[in-house]
Amino acid sequence: MARVLFINAGSEGHINPTIGVVQELISRGEEVVYFTIEAFRERIERTGATVRTIDGEKFIKAFISGGRNYLLERINGLLHTADIVIPSVLEQIKGEHFDYIIHDSMFGCGRLLAQILNLPAINSCTSFAQTKASFDNILESQIPTEIVKPIYDEFQSLTVKLKEKYDVEIHSPYEVFCNPAPLTIVYTTREFQPFGEAFDQTYKFVGPSISSRLMEDDFDLAAIKGKSLIYISLGTVFNRAVDFYKLCFQAFGNTNHTVVMSIGKQTPLLDLGEIPQNFIVKKYVPQTEVLKYTKLFITHGGMNSTNEGLFYGVPLIVIPQSADQPIIAGQVENIGAGIKLQMQSLTANQLYEAADQVLNHPSFHKAVANIRESFQKPGGYHQAVDEIFEFKSQVDIKI
Ligand code: UDP
Repeated sequence: MARVLFINAGSEGHINPTIGVVQELISRGEEVVYFTIEAFRERIERTGATVRTIDGEKFIKAFISGGRNYLLERINGLLHTADIVIPSVLEQIKGEHFDYIIHDSMFGCGRLLAQILNLPAINSCTSFAQTKASFDNILESQIPTEIVKPIYDEFQSLTVKLKEKYDVEIHSPYEVFCNPAPLTIVYTTREFQPFGEAFDQTYKFVGPSISSRLMEDDFDLAAIKGKSLIYISLGTVFNRAVDFYKLCFQAFGNTNHTVVMSIGKQTPLLDLGEIPQNFIVKKYVPQTEVLKYTKLFITHGGMNSTNEGLFYGVPLIVIPQSADQPIIAGQVENIGAGIKLQMQSLTANQLYEAADQVLNHPSFHKAVANIRESFQKPGGYHQAVDEIFEFKSQVDIKI
């Protein structure tokens, strides 16, 4: 039995694919100590891991303090979170031994902690992976040159401070944003990953990691079984979109479809006005269960939602909101598994027409059947843990 330190301060999308991995690690005899924010305690404790927390509010505040307009500002934000995460983790594990670390690819300063603790490291990548070259391209294309200098100066000064404080080396923004490690687990397939062939064998594309979330909920699945079901969700982060939700009422209200709409925890139900009878509107639904009965998924194109939809063979309409979502939406269109729409100019009629097309055109169903097969083949969290055990034997972790 090895002791595993798991670091993941991310939002729901960063947590969910790790649930199956942790359960599987524990079932194969590992002991897992999982650092996250309080909101995910219950979900992770149910896997059998020991949960310890970092202060979620302070973490978000530090992250946002870097600025939000440019990628390099978000990288500075991640560097600001080091002072919230590192002292807290080090204090809470004082005197304990760990054999290896698994860290999120973005949130939680995993690469820095791996350096400080001198542990073999595994990167848990819940979006598409990035090579340094592809990441540097995005970084450079995003910032107007007149703005770049002060942001880059801040990056330099933050890295110097962190070196002084924690004796860690940070060589590039890429290291901060992508936390490269000797083994990276990516929860999709090499075929779906843009430029998949560019990644060497330290990247293991294990396919979607979908497991029971082990949560109690009151959603009545019997009410949606056997229906012509459309499921709508903009995920858990960029989901404050009252106008869009109302537009969905206009597009699908009083049609033959049953529509489940998850509006997130930030939008009061009352703001939506009258809800059409064929809609079931909730702040949160058991998405991976609902998808089993869904004929069309209207999604923001979060990596997990996209993976989950395609894993269950559901064609998509993708309406990207932010972050990596436009790239994911592009990939969905490339493989013919759905249609990408723009939020800004969207009309109810356009949405209805697109839904009609995706629901009734055989080409979407054919493409989705192919991708479903390729997504189910690699084994998800089972394969992830096989790769982790292979890595353990290579780096000579004997336990
Ligand atoms: N999710 C859920 N129920 C909801 C909304 C979201 O279970 O009502 C889950 C969904 O299954 C997915 C995650 O939340 O695993 C959202 O992650 P994604 O990467 O799609 O988007 P994000 O929330 O990070 O924007």
